[in-house]
Amino acid sequence: MVDKKTASFMRSLCLGEIEEEILVPYPEPKVSEKETLQAIVGSLKAMLQPREKDFAAWDRAGELPLTFVQELREAGLFGLVVPEPHGGLGLGSTAYSRVIQELGRYDGSVAVTVGAHSSIGMRGLLLFGTDEQKARWLPKLATGELIAAFCLTEPGAGSDAAGIKTTAVRDGDDWILNGEKLWITNGGIADFFTVFAKTSLEGRGHITAFVVTRDMKGVSTGPHEDKMGIRASSTTTVVLEDVRVPNANVLGEAGKGFKVAMKILNAGRTGLGGGSVGGMKRLIELSVAQARDRVQFGRPIAAYGSVQQKLGQMVVDCYVSESVVNLVAGLADKGFEDTAVEAAISKVLASEGLWRTADEALQIAGGLGYMREMPYERAVRDCRINRIFEGTNDILRLFIALAAMNDVAEELKDLAASMKGVLADPVKGFGVLSDYAKRRASLATNLKREKGKWTLLAPAVAAEAAIFEDGARQLAIATDRMLRRHGKKIVEAQLPTRRLADVMIDLFALAATLGRVSTRVEDHGEDATTVEREILRTFARQARRRIDANLAGQDENEDEGIQALARHVLETGRYGWDNL
Ligand SMILES: Cc1cc2nc3c(=O)[nH]c(=O)nc-3n(C[C@H](O)[C@H](O)[C@H](O)COP(=O)(O)OP(=O)(O)OC[C@H]3O[C@@H](n4cnc5c(N)ncnc54)[C@H](O)[C@@H]3O)c2cc1C
Repeated sequence: MVDKKTASFMRSLCLGEIEEEILVPYPEPKVSEKETLQAIVGSLKAMLQPREKDFAAWDRAGELPLTFVQELREAGLFGLVVPEPHGGLGLGSTAYSRVIQELGRYDGSVAVTVGAHSSIGMRGLLLFGTDEQKARWLPKLATGELIAAFCLTEPGAGSDAAGIKTTAVRDGDDWILNGEKLWITNGGIADFFTVFAKTSLEGRGHITAFVVTRDMKGVSTGPHEDKMGIRASSTTTVVLEDVRVPNANVLGEAGKGFKVAMKILNAGRTGLGGGSVGGMKRLIELSVAQARDRVQFGRPIAAYGSVQQKLGQMVVDCYVSESVVNLVAGLADKGFEDTAVEAAISKVLASEGLWRTADEALQIAGGLGYMREMPYERAVRDCRINRIFEGTNDILRLFIALAAMNDVAEELKDLAASMKGVLADPVKGFGVLSDYAKRRASLATNLKREKGKWTLLAPAVAAEAAIFEDGARQLAIATDRMLRRHGKKIVEAQLPTRRLADVMIDLFALAATLGRVSTRVEDHGEDATTVEREILRTFARQARRRIDANLAGQDENEDEGIQALARHVLETGRYGWDNL
């Protein structure tokens, strides 16, 4: 039986185990949820499809008109995740992500406005709010009378969120907040701010999450930022000057705000993933129409292999991203609590899939794609942010690999404890470690062989399942080797860590796609799933080649050379080989 509190497919995989019960059968929305979703998707289509020209105009103007924000309110889009008793639709993660997908299909700014409200702005209240706090704010958040924003980033603290400087000092029953938050989505239209502030002035950490509302004295927001993309969404500073916040507005435990922030971001990632998948679906449709219509050298460009390669890859990227995003959302709906690594993978995978898709869609459209009258350049600009906010993909890659390695290190620690300090002796210690490595290698190969095998998948996907098993075995060995090679210095070894993360991303994507296609085969038969099996086959082969290359790169690489070049240019401050 899988323990939903602690089980994590990827963490187990790094220890050589395929916890297939987590993935198979692949999660499907409930029938009742499907019906609700069909109704929502239908009405969103009617509402948003005719607005293409408006979206382009609002992008240029850099603002969503308040009348349109009102339309979003009236369409119920601010109540998607608010539980029904508080006046919302009470959608689960899968259904919510599907709605954001639909918004992402039409306009990035709209998807981000609704997404920032539901995914992160009010998520702290949903996850950590007391009954009293929920009763106080959720009904107004559901109608959009209050729009929510998530305020973590500051001028000096982006990726290093624990380094925030905004302070909250206790004063009787209140806290006095001072500081400045930067690039806050919905800043200009929000009245409900989830604000993170330091509640101890000593060192880092000791962060607390507060609900701050616009009507509090000392709260102000700056002008809209002039951005590259998602231009119509509101992004502003949020300034707090001696803002008196009652203790009743603390979310979760005082001093535990960093955990609150990370849980919110983790839960929010299926929204961003869903938006990315929606964007990909739309771009595929646009690219197909363009490739069919555009005639060059006497034939539609769709006839040419180079164009077909792009279209085919878009399909693979979209299907695989969708499989991962829906799986992660499905796990949250099933009550799995430890999905941080999987959610981070879904964000990286979907945001990069959309980026490639937007870039290639523009390429298929050629010069026309570069013109502002067409939707491609806006799509490229809009989707670039997905690789930056809610954790940059670079930081998330480090997180993905280090979180998994941490478990292996924990096992090492347990081993060390059981050896009663033998690790303190480097010579003996090495012997123990190499025994341990042998044990783990065999765990991944022979001894616990049944744990490194799929047993629940349809026979029709056996070849791809075997590719996965092989990759998983290699991952377990590679994780172990990395820890032995770098020891405590692992956190400094970012290049090998990135490669390991890329292996993990490919493996989770393959696992999710295997689970989905296998379940489809079981439900609909092989004939009805020919194209899906082709997608799986194609992705599995691509993934295998990347995994092999990344693992081979752990031993043979140019890391030292590349880092030496970086050091050189950092020292000189310029490119030094201009030939003039
Ligand atoms: C349009 C927009 C909307 C946003 N909305 C919100 C919002 O609603 N709420 C909110 O709180 N924030 C928001 N942000 C902020 C966003 O989350 C941050 O931009 C993001 O977390 C990255 O922080 P940074 O920009 O300060 O980059 P930095 O942290 O300065 O990073 C710069 C680069 O260095 C890399 N880097 C940093 N540290 C390391 C390291 N240790 N190892 C390796 N590489 C590293 C990063 O990956 C990145 O490539 C928004 C930003 C934008 C642009």
